[in-house]
Amino acid sequence: MDLTLTKDDKAIAARAKTFAETVLFPLEQECEENDGLPTQARKALIRQVQESKLGGYNHEKDVGGQGFNVLQQIVCHEELAKATGCLWSSVWRPAVPLRSGTKQQIDTYLRPSCAGDRRSAYAITEPGAGSDASAVASTAVKRGGNYVINGEKWFVTGANLADFFLVHVHMDGDVKKPTLFLVEADQKGVEVKRVPKFTHNAYFTHAEILFKNVECTPSQMLGEPGQGLDLTKEWFIETRLEIASRCLGAAIRAAEAANAYASERVQFGKQIRDFQAVEAMLADMAVEIMATKAMLYRVGWEVSQGIDAKLVHARASAVKLQASEMVGRVTDKALQVLGGRGYMRENPVERLWREMRVERIWEGTSEIQRVIIGGQIKKRGMGVYTGWV
Ligand SMILES: Cc1cc2nc3c(=O)[nH]c(=O)nc-3n(C[C@H](O)[C@H](O)[C@H](O)COP(=O)(O)OP(=O)(O)OC[C@H]3O[C@@H](n4cnc5c(N)ncnc54)[C@H](O)[C@@H]3O)c2cc1C
Repeated sequence: MDLTLTKDDKAIAARAKTFAETVLFPLEQECEENDGLPTQARKALIRQVQESKLGGYNHEKDVGGQGFNVLQQIVCHEELAKATGCLWSSVWRPAVPLRSGTKQQIDTYLRPSCAGDRRSAYAITEPGAGSDASAVASTAVKRGGNYVINGEKWFVTGANLADFFLVHVHMDGDVKKPTLFLVEADQKGVEVKRVPKFTHNAYFTHAEILFKNVECTPSQMLGEPGQGLDLTKEWFIETRLEIASRCLGAAIRAAEAANAYASERVQFGKQIRDFQAVEAMLADMAVEIMATKAMLYRVGWEVSQGIDAKLVHARASAVKLQASEMVGRVTDKALQVLGGRGYMRENPVERLWREMRVERIWEGTSEIQRVIIGGQIKKRGMGVYTGWV
């Protein structure tokens, strides 16, 4: 068994670390205070991402991506995700299902997205459809040679950055025909209904978007009618591993900050790390991070080796569950070690603690991950998780 990272893996991680520390960290405070970045700063950041050669790192080189394997994407995101304000999302990762487009769709949507000239947002969730995507009420109905889309989407992450949306609808209102459409943000009938505030102050917004009689050509349909859920599931697998990498990076930054502070801070005439209660918190953080990293890198390596997609689906849920719950515990302990300073918004640990809360909710809540894991155990046996294949 060889668990070493290759020279290339390490070089990618080092590049991402430098980008996070030199470009993203200096923007954190501005992002926190303004709940995002002004347009000029966003444009400047796009140029810096283009120069960094990290943009589109989840896609192959032949469509303009960086050609990183899944393990390399993990180590890259782990470093970027140490930045607060969700600034990691400035290094774009165009939606996975765009790979399944026709040549014309790849040229129109995926290539420019990898280059940083276009950006998408994914719209599945609705007022009545959260964990249960089959409850989606948005519809596409054929009229003449085109399709007319109606519906309301919620929590559309990156709506402020996007110039097109991947919209999940039911063809003719038929639950058996989930279908994806590529809808331009400035298309007639697309309206931003509301931009609510969330717990984090972030680079992106999560808008509510209305689609009112939006007329789409057949060339705007991604895949076939009925294929929408399968395409979306591909997205879930990748984003669940991405989330796990993010939780890992955030936990490491918080633990490092706590460790440094524990040496710096003196109370009762001693460094606080010399109090066993504090030392135990540092130890627990280290062990939790080590366990999660081992799990995530293993699955990342397995995917990069071409393991059976069903196992990937099963294990991605376990990794997402573990990592997102772990980061909550670790950032909470790190904040505790920092005492009152850890509760100040100007402190990155406070922001990580607050921002990481959503990782247990989006892309399938912790409860839904347990439902998936339970279902996989029932279908395939415990060995999917307890074995080593
Ligand atoms: C900041 C943010 C950004 C988001 N970005 C996007 C986005 O870009 N695009 C998009 O489409 N969506 C997005 N979402 C939506 C997100 O994916 C949903 O919030 C999530 O899937 C949960 O759906 P819900 O909020 O409707 O909760 P619900 O599904 O209503 O769940 C409420 C509670 O019930 C539990 N529950 C539900 N079903 C079960 C079950 N079968 N077994 C056990 N417990 C269950 C849940 O775990 C949860 O605790 C975002 C959400 C947030 C908060």
